[in-house]
Amino acid sequence: MSFTLPRYFLRFHLSFTSRTASTRAKNNHGYLFLAPKANTTKFTTASIPGDKPQKLSAEELLVVVGGGAAGVYGAIRAKTVASNLNVLVIEKGKLLSKVKISGGGRCNVTNGHCADNLVRYHYPRGNKELRGSFFNVHGPTDTMSWFVDKGVDLKTEDDGRVFPVSNNSSSVIDCLLSEAKCRGVSLQTEKLVTSASASASGKFLLKIEKRTLKSVELVEAYYLLIASGSSQQGHNLAVQLGHSIVDPVPSLFTFKIEDAQLVELSGVTFSKVIVKLKLENVQRNIPQLTQVGPMLVTHWGLSGPAILRLSAWGARYLYSSGYKGKLIVDFVPDLHVEDLKSMLSQQKNRFLKQKVLNSCPMELQLVKRFWKYILDREGLVGDTLWASVSNSSIVSIANLLKHCTFEVKGKGQFKDEFVTAGGVPLSEIHLNTMESRIQPNLYFAGEVLNVDGVTGGFNFQNAWSGGYIAGSTIGRLAAGNANLVGAP
Ligand SMILES: Cc1cc2nc3c(=O)[nH]c(=O)nc-3n(C[C@H](O)[C@H](O)[C@H](O)COP(=O)(O)OP(=O)(O)OC[C@H]3O[C@@H](n4cnc5c(N)ncnc54)[C@H](O)[C@@H]3O)c2cc1C
Repeated sequence: MSFTLPRYFLRFHLSFTSRTASTRAKNNHGYLFLAPKANTTKFTTASIPGDKPQKLSAEELLVVVGGGAAGVYGAIRAKTVASNLNVLVIEKGKLLSKVKISGGGRCNVTNGHCADNLVRYHYPRGNKELRGSFFNVHGPTDTMSWFVDKGVDLKTEDDGRVFPVSNNSSSVIDCLLSEAKCRGVSLQTEKLVTSASASASGKFLLKIEKRTLKSVELVEAYYLLIASGSSQQGHNLAVQLGHSIVDPVPSLFTFKIEDAQLVELSGVTFSKVIVKLKLENVQRNIPQLTQVGPMLVTHWGLSGPAILRLSAWGARYLYSSGYKGKLIVDFVPDLHVEDLKSMLSQQKNRFLKQKVLNSCPMELQLVKRFWKYILDREGLVGDTLWASVSNSSIVSIANLLKHCTFEVKGKGQFKDEFVTAGGVPLSEIHLNTMESRIQPNLYFAGEVLNVDGVTGGFNFQNAWSGGYIAGSTIGRLAAGNANLVGAP
């Protein structure tokens, strides 16, 4: 088939290359590449503006922007449902690069413990919208089955995090890449999709730059899946196609605490604390700004699951407060303050002649370094004996253990699992298909959307689920069109 290049294609083309040259059309994947040297307006393509679907089917093209978890999973799914569909993944860097470094190199694929409350407690952005069918279509168990079926053995750790048995993210990457290749997905790397527009007939014209060669290609696509993660370039594409962007801000970070004594506790972990964030710009009570779980002291402040969860739920408030606020930690959440006071009083009475530093109540299970920190904050020096600890000091120690306040001075870097809150608003997407409400045949999946989860595999699950739903929808449309070929 051949047709005359529509005028706007030509203008678009000429606007980014000052040269007029000859057109090189490539049709072996059913998509069109225009080299910058082009000057003729005739070329071969699968798609003809104004054609009815019946005539397009065999050579329809899906372009996926981004070769991350959502993009590759979505591409595989689309090609699985519609083998007739040409699927091209364009990745500006390396394929699945975040999968590689994820989970400390082990890749926390999903979370296996949250069937009932998956969305509500684990997605600070998306916790209302995703409560519908999203994870019912393809949830954690479906993801696990998908990988297991394809030969990746998985294990679920006590806290629900699911990893490959190999403890190596390469198992996940190898599986995805081999599946993509064997299905016939075309994967192209080191190419950046720099602009996208939709024609009146609904097809997409994409400008793709190969930076190393300083070359530019135009590709015409029937379907477009933007799975560009948190990248600004991906957001730009969404905006060019009529979408808005919720301002991106970091989520999942540690808290910087300036406290010279706390630095000495670096490496100390607490298996269960309650942490509560107080910010000047937040007056109302937000339940999610209180979290329970393990906490870790680092050399710059506080980290661990409870803190990361707090950072995720508080991401926007923390951003607007300049990452400054108060953190109140309950180090003994299972003890009432009155019980704690009487426990300390009993300790005093039993060990009057002992140094307080050397006889912390066993039941509290506090490491000595931390006990010293608490006593220092109370002004009780190292050789103070229990006998000289006043009742008011006992009350104060108990209060400090229950409500220990730290000044949050900033945001630390957390290298293990870092995501961005913000992106394309979910209100602009049909979540049952992942299709844009603004532009037909445009789809989104993964972190490009205003969805982010807490640590534990929830962010990848959003990518797998969104990619799967988008891929299924596109695949069904393409397969449906194929069935229409020759139909009366
Ligand atoms: C260090 C680290 C560890 C993590 N560990 C975990 C974990 O163990 N478990 C978990 O659930 N989550 C984890 N996450 C979060 C998880 O990696 C992301 O939520 C997930 O990768 C999102 O998938 P995605 O496909 O939407 O985006 P991405 O994985 O970011 O993929 C998007 C891809 O699109 C490409 N791209 C962007 N724009 C363009 C463009 N214009 N043209 C071409 N290509 C483009 C990018 O190069 C990128 O490769 C971790 C994140 C980090 C940073």
